[in-house]
Order: sequence, then structure tokens, then C-alpha cells
Amino acid sequence: MQPTLQQKSELKKSCSNCGAELLYAPGTTELKCDYCDHRQKILTPENGYDELDLKSYLDSMGSQSHSEVITILSCKNCGANQHIEENYKSLHCVYCNSPLIIKDAKKEEWILPGAVLPFQIDQKKAFQIFAKWVDKLWWAPNKLKKATLDPQNTKGLYVPFWTFDAQLFATYTGQRGDYYYISVPYTTTVNGKAVTRFRQERRTRWTPASGNISGFVDDTLIKASLQKTGVIPKKISHWNLNALQPFDSSYLAGFVTEKYTITLKEGHLEANKEANRIADRWARRDIGGDTQRISSLDMTLSEETFKHILLPVFVSAYTFKGKRYNFFVNGQTGELSGKRPYSFWKIFLFVLSIILMIVVIVLLVNS
Ligand SMILES: [Zn+2]
Ligand SMILES: [Zn+2]
Repeated sequence: MQPTLQQKSELKKSCSNCGAELLYAPGTTELKCDYCDHRQKILTPENGYDELDLKSYLDSMGSQSHSEVITILSCKNCGANQHIEENYKSLHCVYCNSPLIIKDAKKEEWILPGAVLPFQIDQKKAFQIFAKWVDKLWWAPNKLKKATLDPQNTKGLYVPFWTFDAQLFATYTGQRGDYYYISVPYTTTVNGKAVTRFRQERRTRWTPASGNISGFVDDTLIKASLQKTGVIPKKISHWNLNALQPFDSSYLAGFVTEKYTITLKEGHLEANKEANRIADRWARRDIGGDTQRISSLDMTLSEETFKHILLPVFVSAYTFKGKRYNFFVNGQTGELSGKRPYSFWKIFLFVLSIILMIVVIVLLVNS
């Protein structure tokens, strides 16, 4: 590995004014010094970001100029691979809060991210969203409210994804179904007499169909993290990818970056399945009618390219009575999703007070 490549994502950015570490300021395209407030613009390359040719990567993984070596700390508890910038103080797993041991750090090769979606909201704002949510929770243990009051529990994480582009072509055979209605007679009894009535029933007329479809499949987003214990909920997994920036490690300064644990090859298999679903949808639209049957679908993808991208999420991990709870806030939209514990005693006391109230009312009525 060439040293110049190694530096790409590990390069420390220091303040030209006071020498302190610069951190990315969410919602801007600037690095900011927390000590003297000096700001430095992150320069965006004019040629945008690269889509990499998929085939050459799959054929010769690792020997590409878009790979480099980074320092990775792997969590022994949940298996998440995280790349922690040196300026990141707390060495705890973002997902499960287990301590990470710095001497376990190992150098690993990775495909450089092609693009990054910078955080739009900062840690303070994410923490406010958490705190507001926790405050509104019914029957949550008091200790939970206390724990979430510690902003240290809320961390910004760049989550790895693969995206794939391809030119899709497919031939299909199947049937087109058109609905029609017929009157079906039936017998019923009116005033003791048997009478014949009609009701409408739906039928489908099937005609053979075949043809071909083609089009561009853009930005199929495939999760690249195998993480099982703290899976990011679907509810908040929507990002506007138009805001992607060409990769610059400046955007990572002050945040944790997770290294993909689903390989490009595995990600590509998932993308193929998605492309098949898209081809099926396109074929059905092409066939038309009210309903369709597809008996064969032969799909080929060409001009396949991919990107490794990083998307922003705030994670808060909290252990309560031996059970782990994760809360997530989308780092772009501020949407929240989380699992919550219930307080047995709060529910118990609430039920008890209702029973007491009923008893009192019954006694009052009887006296
Ligand atoms: Zn400074
Ligand atoms: Zn962990």
C-alpha cells in the first residue's frame, strides 16, 4: 500500500490558527475548531464522485487504487467493526456500549467510500430529540430518563452501504388478465316462495403476453453492515441521496465510521435480487391489464457500477437491568426510532391506584 493512500481517511486535520483538532460541523461544509472557533472550508472536487466498475473489482479485490488500509476496532460483544478517529475520546462500541480495547486495533484494507452523506444535525440536536422522546414515554423507568440525560450516550455513526447502478434488459413471457363480470343466478326465499335472483361475479380473461423491457437501475441501496444487535430500524432508514458528497475524510472528523461487514460480492448478490424484483415490476407494467402472470423472466445487467457510501445515524445504546436498548436518530432528517423498557413498578402502582379508586367509589355508593 502506498503511504499517500493510507493517509486518505486517517489524516488528522488540525487548526491552522491554534493547532487543535478540527471537527466536522454538521449541516455545513466546514471543519470547525472547538477551541478558537476557526472554520475551514471542505473543498468539493469538481468532477463529483466516482462510480466504480463492478466487474474489475469483483475479479481482483484489493489490488485497486480505491482501496486503502485503515485502523479498525472490532467489538468483541456484537461484532461491529468501527473505525475511530484519534480525536474520538470515548472508546466504547457505538451499538452496544461495550468497552473497546485500543491494543486490539488492527489494520484492515477497505474499499474507500466513494461518497458520504454528511451529518445535517449535530450531537446536541440529536440528544435533544432523544431527551424529548424519553420525556414523553409513559411508564418508563426513572433510571432510563436519567441515563439518557447523559449526552455521552448519543454518538454519531457513519453506517456503510453499497449502492449499485446497472443497465437492465429482460425478456419475459406470461399472461395478461382482464376482469369481466357475469350474472350468476341463485335461488332465495321471499314470503315463503322460492325466487330466482342474480348476483355479479368477477371473472378473469387470460391472454398470452411476451416482450422485453429495458432501463437504467439507479442507486440500489444495500446495507453493508452485518450488525445484529443494533440493527438500524427501517422506519428511519431513508436518506436523500441527492445530498451525497464526494468522499472527504473531513466529514468523518469527530464521528465513528463503521467498516462494512457485508462484502461487495455479497452486497452485489442482494442487488441482483432487487434488480429481479424491479424487472418483475417493469414486466407487469408492460403486460398491462388488471392482473398479470409471469412464467419466465430472463434478466441481464450490463455496465454495472457500484459505490461504497457512508450514511449518518446517531445511536444511543443503553443497558437497563441487563437488557440492551438502542435508540436511533437519522443524522440527516432527525427522525427517531427506538425500543423502550417499561417500569414494572410504575404500571403496578397505576393499576393499584385504579383498583383503590373503584373500591372507594363502590364504598361511597353503598353508604
Ligand atoms: Zn483553533
Ligand atoms: Zn458492540
